[in-house]
Amino acid sequence: MDKAVENKRVRSAAGQLEKPSREEAEAAVRTLIRWSGDDPDREGLRATPSRVVRAYEEWFSGYTADPSDYLSRTFDETGGYDEVVVLRDIRFESHCEHHMAPIIGRVHIGYLPRNRVVGISKLARLVEVFARRLQIQEKMTAEIASCLDAVLKPHGVAVVTEATHQCMTTRGVHKTGVSMVTSRMLGVFRDHAETRQEFLSAIGIRGGAHGGNGAG
Ligand SMILES: [Zn+2]
Repeated sequence: MDKAVENKRVRSAAGQLEKPSREEAEAAVRTLIRWSGDDPDREGLRATPSRVVRAYEEWFSGYTADPSDYLSRTFDETGGYDEVVVLRDIRFESHCEHHMAPIIGRVHIGYLPRNRVVGISKLARLVEVFARRLQIQEKMTAEIASCLDAVLKPHGVAVVTEATHQCMTTRGVHKTGVSMVTSRMLGVFRDHAETRQEFLSAIGIRGGAHGGNGAG
């Protein structure tokens, strides 16, 4: 019974999640301030709930964007280019879905085009859309790879993400200087050790670390 009432509150008839009002979101921030042990009515904190809610609009803007839109404009005129395209060190900021703490790092993308290429700024936008959602790094890495694979239909896609998780560096085990590396290899990058190695060398990671058969 209670459960049904709860569901009614957050879901519309169509089963869509209903977005709370700005006032509700600000009230939730006030609650968290009180939970932290401070007074949300003290002068320095009075405007904080509205600032936090505005920051959330920016940090989580990825929910309102369709990542494949950024890849809809492709270029067919590749002049016969048939080598791997690599864009490395795409910085991103995301938030872990377990603690809502920042994940900060870099994504490296490679693909072997089949006639169609995409502008490099679009690859960076693609990363941004997935990063601006609550994430775990493994899922984000896989989502970027699948999206590129589905839209560009290349011979293969490689995505490597390196990031530090503030839920690990600032709390819990307090391990600083630790970064997590995740990768997703599709098509030729998965099937051909040489192609995978070419990509990993281009981004400065030796193949051995990725369980590959590379010379690393
Ligand atoms: Zn976390």
